[in-house]
Amino acid sequence: MSEEKKIPYKIYLEENEMPQSWYNVRADMKNKPAPLLNPGTLQPMTAEELGGVFCEELVRQELDNETPYIEIPQEIRDFYKMYRPSPLVRAYCLEEKLQTPAKIYYKFEGNNTSGSHKLNSAIAQAYYAKNQGLKGVTTETGAGQWGTALSMACSYLGLDCKVYMVKVSYEQKPFRREVMRTYGASVVPSPSETTQVGRKILAEHPGTTGSLGCAISEAVEVAVSNPGYRYVLGSVLNQVLLHQSVIGLETKAALDKYNIKPDMIIGCAGGGSNLGGLISPFMGEKLRGEADYQIIAVEPQSCPSFTRGVYAYDFCDTGMVCPLAKMYTLGCDFIPAPNHAGGLRYHGMSPVLSQLYADGLMEARAVPQTAVFEAAEQFARVEGILPAPESSHAIKVAIDEAMKCKETGEEKTIVFGLTGTGYFDMVAYEKFHDGKMDDYIPTDEELARFRAKLPKVG
Ligand SMILES: *Cc1c(COP(=O)(O)O)cnc(C)c1O
Repeated sequence: MSEEKKIPYKIYLEENEMPQSWYNVRADMKNKPAPLLNPGTLQPMTAEELGGVFCEELVRQELDNETPYIEIPQEIRDFYKMYRPSPLVRAYCLEEKLQTPAKIYYKFEGNNTSGSHKLNSAIAQAYYAKNQGLKGVTTETGAGQWGTALSMACSYLGLDCKVYMVKVSYEQKPFRREVMRTYGASVVPSPSETTQVGRKILAEHPGTTGSLGCAISEAVEVAVSNPGYRYVLGSVLNQVLLHQSVIGLETKAALDKYNIKPDMIIGCAGGGSNLGGLISPFMGEKLRGEADYQIIAVEPQSCPSFTRGVYAYDFCDTGMVCPLAKMYTLGCDFIPAPNHAGGLRYHGMSPVLSQLYADGLMEARAVPQTAVFEAAEQFARVEGILPAPESSHAIKVAIDEAMKCKETGEEKTIVFGLTGTGYFDMVAYEKFHDGKMDDYIPTDEELARFRAKLPKVG
């Protein structure tokens, strides 16, 4: 135990130990993620086609399956210094409370005003847009974390920022909206009357609470119809996982400092960016045959892309204006129940993680909402941090695994991603405390109905 206690509660990195490059796990994948397809021709999207929607440098990163390390520009590293390194925390208090022999660590990404890991990619995407001489960017946001992160990054660099916010969140989370406006972004509830696709969706589904898929269609339409604007996306894409690898690289460097080898790495998965970033360097070792780790993606039972979706080409958005991506998907029309983990309500999953999952290199579990909030509360009471509902999916499975260790006596080392804080999610906590939260699970018939509408690709 005394030896043990030499591991501090929080492991930080020195400035000179910080990652200088992002790690591109695709370089080590034998089976590369499937390319994005042009929805018209069903041919792989070319750099030129993608360049109409995304910034040039980001297109290059999106298509680069070969370069293992991509240097982080100095300006981005300087911005990272404002809130990174994020701490890797040994959850001594949680271990004590659970009376488990497991050793639990969490990488905490909530220590910035946006309250989540999303700032890691927001600053990168805004930087490349600025560098290309653009006026501004458009995007969608679900729960609001991505929009907040992007607003912060854009205001830092002097870029205009237009955010389409899923209507249910716009109404439930007025504070998140005001944070975005504080950073100068314009925020529109989606679906809206401001775009063609928004008007079409409203006509077909009056009273809809919206979805990420709708909001993406609107943001893309505005980007391609306004000169000097491009669209940016907070998750799913290869480039986003690349930027988020800073989480995993820091985690690995911190663990290596104390010679700690994790047995298990757990993260919540919405579009897959935090999990993809957290596991990247570990997955790289696994792919190169240097080490082995058990890797678990956790998703809500109400939006079970990995555990009940199919691995197929699908649209990334409801309006079907985006390229097709091969991913685990529930169908682009799938509008999940208004689950309170807004950031996990996306019908698809990162193509990189989808390929890794299809190849049996990682597992997935779906958990019910109330159990997630029980875990969140248990965690908050002993570790002090009030977690985001999304992050609490990872907490739930970390606790489950620690309890299994208690039964078997195994001293496994568990690392999980604590992606953010839940201060803007108190309506959800309120529902939980008042016993008004339910565990909606879609039926097989419901899922089959959406699956039937998947595009037919060779
Ligand atoms: C957006 C978000 C997620 C889910 O997104 P991924 O791309 O799957 O990481 C998880 N946690 C928080 C706090 C978020 O804001």
